[in-house]
Amino acid sequence: MAERMLKFVTTPRATPPKRDAGARTGDFHEIYAEFIDQKAAEQASRCSQCGVPFCQTHCPLHNNIPDWLRMTAAGRLEEAYRLSQATNSMPEICGRICPQDRLCEGNCVIEQSGHGTVTIGAVEKYLTDKAWEEGWVQPLVAGPDRGRSVGVVGAGPAGLAAAERLRELGYAVTVYDRHDRPGGLLIYGIPGFKLEKDVVERRTTRLADGGIAFRLNFEVGRDATLAELRQKHDAVLVATGVYKARELEAPGAGSQGVVPALDYLVASNRTAFGEPLPAGLDAAGKHVVVVGGGDTAMDCVRTAVRQGAASVTCLYRRDRANMPGSVREVAHAEEEGVIFEWLAAPRAVTGDALAAAGVVAARMRLGPPDATGRQAPEEVEGADFELKADLVIKALGFDPEFSAPGLDTTRWGTVKADFRNMQTSIPGVFAAGDIVRGASLVVWAIRDGRDAAEAIHRYCQAHASADALMAAE
Ligand code: FAD
Ligand code: SF4
Ligand code: SF4
Repeated sequence: MAERMLKFVTTPRATPPKRDAGARTGDFHEIYAEFIDQKAAEQASRCSQCGVPFCQTHCPLHNNIPDWLRMTAAGRLEEAYRLSQATNSMPEICGRICPQDRLCEGNCVIEQSGHGTVTIGAVEKYLTDKAWEEGWVQPLVAGPDRGRSVGVVGAGPAGLAAAERLRELGYAVTVYDRHDRPGGLLIYGIPGFKLEKDVVERRTTRLADGGIAFRLNFEVGRDATLAELRQKHDAVLVATGVYKARELEAPGAGSQGVVPALDYLVASNRTAFGEPLPAGLDAAGKHVVVVGGGDTAMDCVRTAVRQGAASVTCLYRRDRANMPGSVREVAHAEEEGVIFEWLAAPRAVTGDALAAAGVVAARMRLGPPDATGRQAPEEVEGADFELKADLVIKALGFDPEFSAPGLDTTRWGTVKADFRNMQTSIPGVFAAGDIVRGASLVVWAIRDGRDAAEAIHRYCQAHASADALMAAE
């Protein structure tokens, strides 16, 4: 084993080739090419096979990373894939879009020792893409029928991960979603240059082929109440995500030229399915200002570049070191021509109710840390400046909006669920993903969905035993 592994001193870190910025901004395809087999094996061989693998500890799914890296280095690709998919419902999706610099790779000891992390995410993506190509991804097979049904509200990663596991355990599963396609933010939020749509669709098709029923264009609260679904199913999982956009509090922010980030991204993602782009959500030829510093803001700026904007500027009130977005995504945006105005906060949107003309911004500096320990931004007097803007996109984060009678929520509006068993205040109703955590990550949604499925299974088994006892008495 030692011969094949521990190559981190002699083999430099390498990611799969990235398309040139000029070429990639002309379309919405992913920006990284695939590893070739030899490169994946070579990069996997850099792993030092830690006895206590911090990469695994910091992966929310506790993926067995050292073992599948060792198998990849040895060319045992199918085994490596089988091991990686045992803990992850969508390894190729996590390999593409997890912020690895904050999770597995950021905690790799090779990174800590200054040799550059093992490229865990790229190998994970490579293995599962290869598995799809080679036919190693097996159809979903339902377990022996338990005569019980579960309703899942929300077809995002949390709902889908739960649905898959429940089907394997032998439940009849119906997934309800208000959109016309399953996938949640994977399909309509995250742009194709990070995650192409066919990668998501082959997953959802596999679930449908495995007998999971999808009721689309079905909004709980409009087409049925949560109580009605609870009546219909033996258990219900709420996995509705968070969608209410935080508002831009500034004069002029009500102009039609100011749009919420998700409206903008959903419209752009829909063009991948042949739908037209509404003029108000098309950045072509426009000067675009995106307000915010998270991953959603990064997706907006990079979408605007691809739509042919005249200029794209990101306004963020803290500095680069303190922004919430992934360092990798900021680097991609900069390569693609996005201008970052760090330490800048919008003061007003100029123009009129129908069209924006510009954004007046205050210059900020970082003051002493606030109660959360983060340095609070404060205004620098007399340093305001104005940017030209025909389209202003507000990407200030999302709040939860799902509610139902009897369903307790926290003071942040998220659904209250006991993390030990994912149960809400309504018996038989469980919750998972962003609606419980607040805006988070795909990998955490998958983890929650898998945990919720196990909890629902325990709940249904307990009820089945109780029913059997009553019947016997
Ligand atoms: P969602 O994916 O939001 O799915 C919830 C589903 O519930 C949706 O399909 C919605 O239509 C449906 N729904 C809601 N209410 C109802 C109702 N009343 N009735 C029926 N259906 C309903 N995370 C990463 O890890 N990496 C990234 O690069 C990344 N990029 C992101 C980019 C953007 C623009 C955004 C907004 C988020 C990004 N995230 C990223 C976060 C990630 O997408 C979410 O954390 C994850 O999708 C949450 O999964 P979920 O299943 O809880 O919810
Ligand atoms: Fe890393 Fe995400 Fe894969 Fe875990 S799921 S190993 S955090 S890329
Ligand atoms: Fe390999 Fe890095 Fe994980 Fe150690 S921390 S097992 S070197 S990937």
